[in-house]
Amino acid sequence: MTHRIVILGGGTGGTLAANRLRRAYTSSEAEITVVDSNDRHVYQPGLLFVPFGLASLDEIVRPRSKQLRNGINFETSAVDHVDIAADQVHLANGRELDYDVLVVATGAVLQPEETEGMTGPGWMERVFTFYSPEGAGALEGAFATFSEGRVVVNPIDMPIKCPVAPLELCFLADWYFTERGVREKVQLTYVTPLDAAFTMPTSARLLGHMLTERGIELVTEFNTGEVDGKGGRLISYDGRETPFDLAVVVPLHSGAEYVGRSPGLGDDLNFVPSDEHTLQSRAKPNVFAIGDATNLPTSKAGSVTHFEGETLVRNIQAFLDHRELLASFDGHSNCFIEAGFSKALLIDFNYDTEPLPGRFPAKIGVPLMKESRLNHLGKLMFQWFYWHVLLPGRDIPGIGSSMPQAGKEIGPKAAQTAGRDPGLETGQGSEEV
Ligand SMILES: Cc1cc2nc3c(=O)[nH]c(=O)nc-3n(C[C@H](O)[C@H](O)[C@H](O)COP(=O)(O)OP(=O)(O)OC[C@H]3O[C@@H](n4cnc5c(N)ncnc54)[C@H](O)[C@@H]3O)c2cc1C
Repeated sequence: MTHRIVILGGGTGGTLAANRLRRAYTSSEAEITVVDSNDRHVYQPGLLFVPFGLASLDEIVRPRSKQLRNGINFETSAVDHVDIAADQVHLANGRELDYDVLVVATGAVLQPEETEGMTGPGWMERVFTFYSPEGAGALEGAFATFSEGRVVVNPIDMPIKCPVAPLELCFLADWYFTERGVREKVQLTYVTPLDAAFTMPTSARLLGHMLTERGIELVTEFNTGEVDGKGGRLISYDGRETPFDLAVVVPLHSGAEYVGRSPGLGDDLNFVPSDEHTLQSRAKPNVFAIGDATNLPTSKAGSVTHFEGETLVRNIQAFLDHRELLASFDGHSNCFIEAGFSKALLIDFNYDTEPLPGRFPAKIGVPLMKESRLNHLGKLMFQWFYWHVLLPGRDIPGIGSSMPQAGKEIGPKAAQTAGRDPGLETGQGSEEV
């Protein structure tokens, strides 16, 4: 019998899952269909570089269908809804797809209209987002002519994709305006709903310190209720105001809308409740989820999606063979954080272990939680890995799906390095490699 596997979403997770499954099954063993509303695959980490003229949209967008192995069907249509009871997907183009296994990989979508005023006067004129290709392109034009005034960067609320990206935008803006010789006339402010620069204590301290060092103001516990693009103000629910001449916002995120039209599939935010170790959905045993579409308590990141791939495919095989699923995904997340001036740092963590200093992936490797040129090169090389290793669903040599322990400073030494401020100063915390 030929298994019918339908994958909703042809982004990072859908593509790598389809390619891994195609290698696991012959065409007579499984028919694999990927559905996406369009044929433009955006390398989303590249959006960070577009506003600074360091990447162009042409370089970071490729046809989706070309990223899929031979023998994978690609259907270009939006998903209208899923009938979980009938094991059937209804597409907006009127087609219906029956499945034995469904993979939800439709990611997270931006909801700018959910914040009062955001898309009103000033939207894409003085209020921008770099989380979409159009927004990143428009911001490039605005930054190029901006020489004086207040720039605020504001993720409206969590969860968002790549939660360090707005901080990276601040660090790059510091570099960019310095290069242009106008930094002393540009005030940079990072406004966050969190009580610190970031979520996990060690990273929050490190990233908060990097903001201070660069003269970037930090405004915490600011829950933006309104964006006044005309008056140039962010207004919080408790009535506080942050003025701006140019605002870079990260809109609220939710799961794809069709999830809300598919009874039993998603939660209130349209994310898909899933087992955090097996990736099987709570909706029905033959429904799995990968990447940003899930409600898992880890970062919404391409690296996470890649690390999930192995568990997902093994568990789809186990499900179809009536074997027990493997609880093997450990929440592994890994992120290069661009720091400006050709340096970056790397953080690596999972559900149980917050980012620790040391080396990655082993005692000989790139530095963790330290700015270095090597990490900046790693960030730049990530694009090559994305198209040639992650999307084809290959494993990265020497880097397994689970978080590596070797090389990490675990215990008192880590606490000493990560906890005390001098260890986080770029003097000691940076490497000229
Ligand atoms: C600015 C920015 C910087 C980032 N930087 C990094 C980084 O440095 N490192 C990192 O690891 N991650 C980074 N990410 C996050 C990373 O890109 C995502 O986490 C990753 O792409 C998630 O993969 P996914 O498959 O879950 O979702 P996506 O890759 O977003 O794919 C979802 C797909 O579903 C499709 N879809 C949605 N709704 C429907 C529908 N109704 N019908 C049909 N198709 C639909 C979409 O068209 C899309 O192709 C960044 C993201 C952004 C925005």
